[in-house]
Amino acid sequence: MHNHSTSSDGLLSPTELIELAARTGVDAIALTDHDTTDGLAEADSAARHAGVTFVPGVEISVSWGDTTLHVVGLRVDPEAKSLKDGLEAIRVGRHARAERIAAAMAQLGHPGTMAGAWALAENKAMLGRTHFARHLTEIGAVKDIQAAFDKYLAKGKPAYVSHRWASLEDAVRWIKESGGVAVLAHPGRYKLKPMMRDEMLADFRKHGGEAIEVVTGSHRPEEYSHWQRIALEYGFLASRGADYHGPGESPAEPGTLPNLHSSLTPVWSNWAH
Ligand code: AMP
Ligand code: MN
Ligand code: MN
Ligand code: MN
Repeated sequence: MHNHSTSSDGLLSPTELIELAARTGVDAIALTDHDTTDGLAEADSAARHAGVTFVPGVEISVSWGDTTLHVVGLRVDPEAKSLKDGLEAIRVGRHARAERIAAAMAQLGHPGTMAGAWALAENKAMLGRTHFARHLTEIGAVKDIQAAFDKYLAKGKPAYVSHRWASLEDAVRWIKESGGVAVLAHPGRYKLKPMMRDEMLADFRKHGGEAIEVVTGSHRPEEYSHWQRIALEYGFLASRGADYHGPGESPAEPGTLPNLHSSLTPVWSNWAH
């Protein structure tokens, strides 16, 4: 229930992603590109072809105070006006942000990274840090994507540029108004202390968030039981998703993560096929 394509920062086209999933033997797959629904139509038709159930989704970038959160919407309608307009509004500004990242990288002795990242972004409107990380890896400035984030691009590192994304309230509202269900993506990634974490989860629920990811390629396996406990404690539905970005770049391929624990209610439990 969480995968990327070339419409944002994934390496496979929507069709290639669906074909990979079909080969892996999944019975359902979601496409959840960052801040765009551009790939959904292609993925939907590829899924019909491959006989796989397709779940149209999106992963919305959110600013919650100084913390960037990601909220996945599942079963969204890409034609819904508030979702469409909202996503467009948060995409604006990615280009200027990329220029600032490139300027910081130039200061650090790596000129030309804007052109490099640009060339790697199929969907130019979705130019992001992953494209910079891939370019820095390609030119040998770092050994891999993870090192690019650890050394330059992650929050607190010298080429990090803060950016104002959607509010949590708006992101959840757009998802709900488009008929979808809001799922907090990889809650373990935000490194919030327990009090802030509780405040964030309470805010998410207050605005209409219904589920959290428990089993995800963006959690270490030893984190699963922790977020399982939190889901049960808060009464959130649970989701599972690879957060797949492409061959060689993700710890898990679609359909290969363990099942959710039987004590959890999966977010898809009441979906009719
Ligand atoms: P952006 O929306 O441009 O800020 O890029 C966010 C994307 O960068 C995420 O969806 C991940 O694909 C990737 N990313 C963010 N932080 C890290 C990290 N610490 N290590 C590896 N990839 C990361
Ligand atoms: Mn990504
Ligand atoms: Mn994410
Ligand atoms: Mn993701």
